[in-house]
Amino acid sequence: MPTHTAPFDTVPSSAVFDRTLLKAIQEASPDAILVVDGMGQIVSFNQRFLETWQIAPDYVSAHQQADGTIAEDKLMAPALRLLKAPEAFLSRVEQLYARPTEADLCEIELTDGRVLERHSVGLQSDAGQYLGRVWFFRDITPHKLLESSLRHIACVDTLTGEMNRRHFLECAAAEFTRAREQQYPLAILMIDLDHFKKINDNYGHAAGDKVLEATCKRWRTILRSQDLLGRVGGEEFAVLLPHSELAATQAVAQRLCQSMNSTPFTLDGHEVYCSISGGMTMVQAQDGSVKEALLRADDALYRAKRAGRNCIEVLLT
Ligand code: GH3
Ligand code: MG
Ligand code: MG
Repeated sequence: MPTHTAPFDTVPSSAVFDRTLLKAIQEASPDAILVVDGMGQIVSFNQRFLETWQIAPDYVSAHQQADGTIAEDKLMAPALRLLKAPEAFLSRVEQLYARPTEADLCEIELTDGRVLERHSVGLQSDAGQYLGRVWFFRDITPHKLLESSLRHIACVDTLTGEMNRRHFLECAAAEFTRAREQQYPLAILMIDLDHFKKINDNYGHAAGDKVLEATCKRWRTILRSQDLLGRVGGEEFAVLLPHSELAATQAVAQRLCQSMNSTPFTLDGHEVYCSISGGMTMVQAQDGSVKEALLRADDALYRAKRAGRNCIEVLLT
């Protein structure tokens, strides 16, 4: 076993050891660290703190007092420019200084797109004396970007860019609750592309994909931004229209049909039409959940198919 012999001539004092250890911990930390004493003077900060807040070392030396210390507000002044919400940041900082024992964890958005997680703890001696506060800032931008891309993957249909089934059903349930609470009409449309299999058979699966994608683009120009559009099956879509009465929804449904009948898709040099069938309903007072209303719209859709396709059927109860 190798042995480690300390190359000391003299044993360092515990104060020297503590200071050295503290410095090593601070500099090795992935966090930007700032330590402030009970008088608002900065006790220490690490290199990452300066980097994170884009504070030039020259700025620090220019604002150091004769004893080498620097006031916190002086050091943080250039950093405030980076904050998206400086007032909220400063008022929370003030609050925390007023509550010495309180710890804090929050996220801070910067104007350059970074997101920092700020963690703060008050420092108290064993006897309960307030000694200051430590602030930790961690750059969580990569984590936030990953989180948002995972959310996108989990919610969005990759082919059409519209909501996938799972996310649509989640949003529909939330919309159902809101419509109940606020007493506004909520219309539902289920739509299925007619004889879609023939498009795949005649022009290939990629051409079928192109039709699905282009169909959603057409519909988006007709639907309002608050209408929810979801791809709930292969060539099956659902639309939820908040604040839309029966007559207005029927008019929208007709425009969706018309958008398919008026303009062909160009597939492999051929002009190909693809009609749709739709089932429509309104959420009713007796519906126990949005699923009940969606099932009714589905029943209406199958009636439309049986009626010969390229039409909309309404089923209200
Ligand atoms: P109907 O009018 O009765 O709805 O006839 P249909 O041919 O549209 O219905 P069917 O259920 O027989 O076929 C649906 C077809 O949709 C079969 C399937 O291959 C195709 N499909 C489902 N998802 C996709 C997809 O993501 N891309 C493509 N290209 N085709 C798809
Ligand atoms: Mg179909
Ligand atoms: Mg289908």
